[in-house]
Amino acid sequence: MPPTSDLASSPIAILSALPQEQHGLMELLQRPRKVTHARRDFWLGELHGQPVVLALSKIGKVAAATTTTALIERFGVRRIVFTGVAGGLGHGVKVGDVVVATDFLQHDLDVSPLFPRYEVPLYGKTRFHCDAALSALLFEASCAALAHENRVAHGFEGACVHQGLIASGDRFVSGADESNLLRDLMASAGHEVLAVEMEGAAVAQVCMDYGVPFAVMRTVSDRADDSAHVDFPAFVDAVASRYARAIIERFLNLLSKK
Ligand code: SAH
Repeated sequence: MPPTSDLASSPIAILSALPQEQHGLMELLQRPRKVTHARRDFWLGELHGQPVVLALSKIGKVAAATTTTALIERFGVRRIVFTGVAGGLGHGVKVGDVVVATDFLQHDLDVSPLFPRYEVPLYGKTRFHCDAALSALLFEASCAALAHENRVAHGFEGACVHQGLIASGDRFVSGADESNLLRDLMASAGHEVLAVEMEGAAVAQVCMDYGVPFAVMRTVSDRADDSAHVDFPAFVDAVASRYARAIIERFLNLLSKK
């Protein structure tokens, strides 16, 4: 992590993919100020007394890389937290569960036979790791938020928080055959994937380039199967915003005690 003095003065970025996920956080933002840059709206302000920038990654890896780069270059953020939704891929990863990422790979990156499948050429790397300390706080915040949400709102009793590898790619995975194939292909290359989404690996790669610590949580909105296109929008509208807000509030609270 960068020195403490640097961390205290620089804002923490809270990235979401979809407006519905950002909505609950916007309601909490103190002294909001909008800056438009790179055809994106960045919301500066304070959450729980800490300077923050709220931003939308937009959808897909390229868009997420642009937003992440702008956050670092233009807004000087030194920590990034991502809240979003994902398709559950691992066995036992159910709709309503939360996955906190340990690391990311790009499931649609294939420069074989020149490089091993999934490896990012010229990086010599396949998996990009999240910051362990930030991820531990996000995990703790997710467990507390889920326990609270399950007490006050019914629907996802038995939901749990997983920690592990997430795969990103420029594709909404919505078929049982496709998601089984994806999972089995990655598993045969030694990558046991819990969830699939469209932005995290890009954020991870940019953060590695700049040495910026980051952490990611994804609520499971669908099983990336034949009903994913129905489950996803219903979940996003009903739950994503509430979960993102509940988790980020607790996360910032834990961070302020460090
Ligand atoms: N704006 C459109 C499209 C969203 S794309 C809409 O609102 O309908 C799906 C988003 O949710 C992406 O941000 C992606 O990261 C995540 N996601 C959820 N389920 C997914 C799945 N099964 N496959 C890929 N991405 C998924």
